[in-house]
Amino acid sequence: MLCDIHAHLTEEEYQKDLSLVIERAKEAGVNLIISVGIDVKDCKKLKEIIKMDEILYGNVGIHPHEADRVKEEDIKEIYQLLKEEKICGIGEIGLDFYKNYSERENQIKVFKELVKIAKEFNLPMNIHLRESHREGLKILKESNYFKGVLHCFSGNEEILKEAIDLGFYISYSGVITFGSQRLERLLKKTPLDKLLLETDAPYLTPTPKRGERNEPGYIKYIYQKVSEILQIELAELEKKIEENVRRLFAIN
Ligand SMILES: [Zn+2]
Repeated sequence: MLCDIHAHLTEEEYQKDLSLVIERAKEAGVNLIISVGIDVKDCKKLKEIIKMDEILYGNVGIHPHEADRVKEEDIKEIYQLLKEEKICGIGEIGLDFYKNYSERENQIKVFKELVKIAKEFNLPMNIHLRESHREGLKILKESNYFKGVLHCFSGNEEILKEAIDLGFYISYSGVITFGSQRLERLLKKTPLDKLLLETDAPYLTPTPKRGERNEPGYIKYIYQKVSEILQIELAELEKKIEENVRRLFAIN
């Protein structure tokens, strides 16, 4: 069984054929997909979408790109959404100092508030950090809350070690199929009991589907590549990852 811990099933790209996308994922062997929300409107849509199939779960949050537009009520709405069924975490949250679509100070403010809520609910966080690992880890350390995953990991070896020592899980996306020696080295240094995989669909389509829209069924290519790099049996990898997903997100 394959698990995709980070996808955006609410995106426009799936408006016409989401049920087919989910069927294809099942045919590929996927039986757990966590779809993440990027703002309140998206999270409300997400709440309905995850009712479509038993393999779907949700994480609700506010993406750093949206931080400039966040209003006081939005945080309260996220708070309410966390009580919904099949919402097993808070995300996508974090900091993005690469694109800087929102002011850094607003990103920091929103991230801090959402980490606080995650801690209050004792829920795992689906965290986006880009060119902001130092600042992100600083906020997490100040919050003294370390339950979560660094999605689509793009940090260096030092950040990897620190995040793992703090207790975080590390997730790799289709980028791992692009042949980056640097990323492959990081993957090899990630303990198996802290490893997670994701598509980040509809983005970051893995080889051999590059250029197409991504979808959760394509996680099979990511599993295959990771099993080659780590030189472990696919079945063993699947078992380990599933255990990690269920442990972190408390899914039976
Ligand atoms: Zn994402």
